[in-house]
Amino acid sequence: LTIEPSASEPEPVEIEYISHEQGAEILGADKNLKKEDFPDGMALSHERIKITSHSGTHLDAPSHYGPVCEGTTAKTIEEVPLEWCYGDGLIIDAKSNDDGPVTKQEIINYLNTVGYKIKPGDIVLINTGADQLWGTNEYFTDFRGVTKEATDWIVKQGVKIIGIDSFGFDPPFHKMLDEFEQTNSTEVLWPAHVYGRQKEYCQIERLCNLDNIPTPFGFKLSCFPIKVKDCGAGWTRVVAILE
Ligand SMILES: [Zn+2]
Repeated sequence: LTIEPSASEPEPVEIEYISHEQGAEILGADKNLKKEDFPDGMALSHERIKITSHSGTHLDAPSHYGPVCEGTTAKTIEEVPLEWCYGDGLIIDAKSNDDGPVTKQEIINYLNTVGYKIKPGDIVLINTGADQLWGTNEYFTDFRGVTKEATDWIVKQGVKIIGIDSFGFDPPFHKMLDEFEQTNSTEVLWPAHVYGRQKEYCQIERLCNLDNIPTPFGFKLSCFPIKVKDCGAGWTRVVAILE
């Protein structure tokens, strides 16, 4: 996704654009340079942005899920190993009329259909079609998410990064809240995120354009996050590379 002001962002994305003309007034101001001293009265533009670490397409680091993972301090985004972020890509087609979270059985069935076995280091992307709602309020509420059981199964194949094309990796908040009101259980709020306290993994949220990749596997995937000190997530340019 492009980072931009959007009805689908839970917190405002603010971009202040400083034009070339404004740049001419700012850049040399303390050196007595005037606007006219620059070619065409224009210097350099720049921008100031105010966003969260989870704006746009981003990678969630283990420290987002909890302070401790697998018994040790959870990795923040700048500590995520580079080798996790480049590998063989796999796209699981999970577009369905069922609006419940993607299950382990669904994933196993899909892998059997396409004849693929997940191996350690694969980067697994889940295509639910939810990116079609980007720009609308429904983007927050109408998506599937992934079950904790399915997440556990994928991670236990040696996968460190799982991506999804929806607002979040767990089901929508209103659904988790309904389940909480029925069960009063601490197991139902962000279960796949919280699973990341037991087993180390990262998730990419808010992918898009997965339909443009012509094959479910047989491509490389690159998803290096921007390093920001002590943060639990980082903006990520996710690219499928087909030779
Ligand atoms: Zn996130």
